[in-house]
Amino acid sequence: MNLSLTEAAFQRCISRRCGATFAVDEVLTACPKCGHLLDVAYDWDRLPPPKSLAEFEALWADRANPLSFSGVWRFRRLLPFAPPELCVTIGEGQTLLHRADAVARYVGVQPDRLYLQYEGMNPSGSFKDNGMSAAFSHARMVGATTAACASTGNTSASLAIYCAVTRLMRAVIFVGSGKIAYGKLSQALDYGALTLQIAGDFDDAMARVQQVAKQLGIYLVNSVNPFRLEGQKTIMYRVLEALRWEPPDWIVVPGGNLGNSSAFGKAFMELLELGLIRRAPRLAVINAAGANTLYQLYEQQSLRWNRGEPNMTAADRFFGQMDAEGRRASTIASAIEINRPVNLTKCLRALEVCSGVVREVTDQDILDAKAQVGAGGLGCEPASAASVAGAKKLRAEGVIGPNERVVCVLTGHQLKDPNATVAYHTAERTQCEKVLAPYGVTQAPFANRPVAVANDLDEIVRQIQAHSH
Ligand SMILES: *Cc1c(COP(=O)(O)O)cnc(C)c1O
Ligand SMILES: [Zn+2]
Repeated sequence: MNLSLTEAAFQRCISRRCGATFAVDEVLTACPKCGHLLDVAYDWDRLPPPKSLAEFEALWADRANPLSFSGVWRFRRLLPFAPPELCVTIGEGQTLLHRADAVARYVGVQPDRLYLQYEGMNPSGSFKDNGMSAAFSHARMVGATTAACASTGNTSASLAIYCAVTRLMRAVIFVGSGKIAYGKLSQALDYGALTLQIAGDFDDAMARVQQVAKQLGIYLVNSVNPFRLEGQKTIMYRVLEALRWEPPDWIVVPGGNLGNSSAFGKAFMELLELGLIRRAPRLAVINAAGANTLYQLYEQQSLRWNRGEPNMTAADRFFGQMDAEGRRASTIASAIEINRPVNLTKCLRALEVCSGVVREVTDQDILDAKAQVGAGGLGCEPASAASVAGAKKLRAEGVIGPNERVVCVLTGHQLKDPNATVAYHTAERTQCEKVLAPYGVTQAPFANRPVAVANDLDEIVRQIQAHSH
């Protein structure tokens, strides 16, 4: 391996008090000294970044090189932990920022002010591929042969597709029972992953996979893996690129395990440190009201990063109470149905770097926003629409101004969870109401209901004429 590279990239404990460092080719998901999360860190003097971000644009023209074609590795000088010959790509990150005027109207900002970063267009249909390409590159550096994750669905779909395409590792997937959208489960099964349905929820699966990974020496690709977050930084590079390197006023992202928000914060922290941008956008992390740990801790209990020493006794008290009361996350946005976000402390850092805010939105808000996104033409799964619902809420509060430029991240594709979509659009009339009512979704103001019609030409013509405007 390239020696200068392994010395200039390393892993570092995020706790300011500890700050222990480890070699880049060690397999760790927490600091062995103090238990905090790890960052991938760089000695930028020895790995000089580009002088200007605009230099990345030239790589678009280099279509013959798969690493320039990848929306992750095109930016590899900002995540230089792996030698190019070990970087893994299956074409991730070729995603676009779309101006969405119809959604802008819904959110309440000026027509040209709202953008959707459409990460559903990744190979497995969610943003997770950005991180998986980076985790796989690290796995290749360390010679791992089996990889595992706990998943609400999209991480497993991503792990499974990378295993199937690259043949670098075998996939072992832990999902909670009955809690996975069929689009996602179908991917894991189709791509041939060993799929274990644990009798429990995501947090139970998460706890087990960490034990099993340790016991069997399996490579863990959940977002506690610091290399995954390096890949997810590139989502923000692509947003900046689409805006000609002018940071927007707001980045709005759904918060589950908080890997994405943490990665975005790290991206901006580094760009500021390197002098490649002059200000960071503000960050809004949106919880579902039924899975609102971050909202509770950050907004209600004022838990802060506090210069690298967050008051974790407050968090521990919160989790202790949650367990004592048997409170479990419940939301139709299954991708963010998480009780204990593993990247909580990193997210607190991101919120500090980006003067962040956290909001919670109801499942009703989420599905209404989702219908608006779909009507605008891109479409997303429920969790993704939390970003749009959150932006609308922040606009109504006056936190987001009408002229501010807002980027909502659409984290997953519309086809991931067809049940939720069909249930919303057919609400009232079918048994699908049973799907929504338990989540407090009682109305479907933007439903596009299918029209039942007899198998009769005149009747069909009459219905088409009755519904044309
Ligand atoms: C994983 C996922 C999320 C949550 O992201 P975190 O990084 O865990 O906060 C949100 N939306 C979708 C579609 C996801 O797959
Ligand atoms: Zn430490």
